[in-house]
Amino acid sequence: MQPVACNFTFATVVLRQTKIIATLGPATDDPAVLGKLIEAGVDVVRLNFSHGGAEIQRRRAQAVRKCAQSHKRHVGVLVDLQGPKVRIGRFRDGSIDLQEGDNFILDAELPLDQGTGERVGITYKGLVEDVRRGTTLLLDDGHIVLWVDQVRGLEVCCRVVNGGELADSKGINLQGGGLSAEVLSEKDRADIITAAEIEADYLGVSFIRSAADVNEARELFHGAGASGGVVAKIERAEAVDAIDEIIEATDAIMIARGDLGVEIGDAALPPIQKRIIKRTRECNKVAITATQMMESMIKSAIPTRAEVSDVANAVLDGTDAVMLSAETAIGNHPVAAVSAMDRVCRETEKQHETRWSRERRDIAFERVDEAIAMAVMYSANHMPVRAIAALTESGATALWMSRVSSAVPIYAMTPHEQTCRKVALFRGVYPVSFVLPGTDPAQIMRQAVDTLRSLGAVREADLVILTIGEPLQAPGGTNSMRIVRVGTLPNKN
Ligand code: PGA
Ligand code: MN
Repeated sequence: MQPVACNFTFATVVLRQTKIIATLGPATDDPAVLGKLIEAGVDVVRLNFSHGGAEIQRRRAQAVRKCAQSHKRHVGVLVDLQGPKVRIGRFRDGSIDLQEGDNFILDAELPLDQGTGERVGITYKGLVEDVRRGTTLLLDDGHIVLWVDQVRGLEVCCRVVNGGELADSKGINLQGGGLSAEVLSEKDRADIITAAEIEADYLGVSFIRSAADVNEARELFHGAGASGGVVAKIERAEAVDAIDEIIEATDAIMIARGDLGVEIGDAALPPIQKRIIKRTRECNKVAITATQMMESMIKSAIPTRAEVSDVANAVLDGTDAVMLSAETAIGNHPVAAVSAMDRVCRETEKQHETRWSRERRDIAFERVDEAIAMAVMYSANHMPVRAIAALTESGATALWMSRVSSAVPIYAMTPHEQTCRKVALFRGVYPVSFVLPGTDPAQIMRQAVDTLRSLGAVREADLVILTIGEPLQAPGGTNSMRIVRVGTLPNKN
């Protein structure tokens, strides 16, 4: 595959800093739709392994890579594992109607296709050990509420608190958490191999409880030959309690508001979202805000005012990326949903606080590349700098920089395609394929500036900050910073 040049075309246009993740599905399988999605500004696609087999996801990954290439864009691929989502079985008639006060049994012994109005099978037998009299079970994302009356052998006998239609294979959550199921199921382990084969840039790990869960997933992923990052999905009460160790262990976190809101209650979500994003950025990790962001656009061509505010607030919170799920995967208006997010992010990013920084005034820096990155951001926020060019192997320098709010675009210039796709997720970072012209740092910097100029990212007399590591090609080796004016670098030294 040929490396592509860049993710943008002009310096005169203000680049969107917040990244957009779109989940692929039947609604995006038409190559024309996929192309429009990428044109509308998708930075990372999500392959949701809860739906569709490995084969279809593999085809989607190939289609994205091809489409991104033809649009000269670096688009990351996030493989999202199903994880231990406990589900009810299927009903003989497709669905049942539950009334408040009804008795209803979750029966771990019942075959999965034999559900009736009295009882239904469950995909995880261990559920009977995890509940007791008084436990509240939330089905179908909380639409149906059951109260556990007693556990009788492999039967969980419940009373219906909130009724309604209950359809096949809906999910079950425990209010307050406490599910014992292993984080990585057999299916997840097989899907990790697939993720490695399709060279996923990120692996989303569902329902993690601890740093150990994150580490296990990473070992399997990298053991299978992958080098992508891990996204820890925060969607259990236990994960919120262990958030610090999880952030430390992971590359990125996802505030998976769907399942999390069911477990901890919807009203607890907004403050937790703010707190987790803040903490994640402080720890130099990446934050994704997910689920129901433009939910009404599954059907409607425009978002509600509440959805617009939700996306805007996530941007103000400092999220790296906002995510679309069913809106793009199975919605009627996938392209319009991306455009709506794009427009809301751009407008919100005009706010001063997203483009300036009072962060990290009084902390000590531990590493040389971190210190360089902070010096760059301090300078960029206090001088009329047009662009930052981070010459990077792993993307780490660009990540450090992007943890500090600024209006100045950070171009991650790297010879590695994979680094390009990885940094596509970082807020305010734009990947540029850049082949090193030899080993002379002065020549490399001159070439980097020329590349930015040819892309239209900088013009004559603009100030640019460059960072580079010497010796070259050592990941994490950034140790110098140079402020140059375009057009004044000597041609030969
Ligand atoms: P899911 O995760 O879409 O895989 O369930 C996100 C969430 O729970 O919010
Ligand atoms: Mn979930």
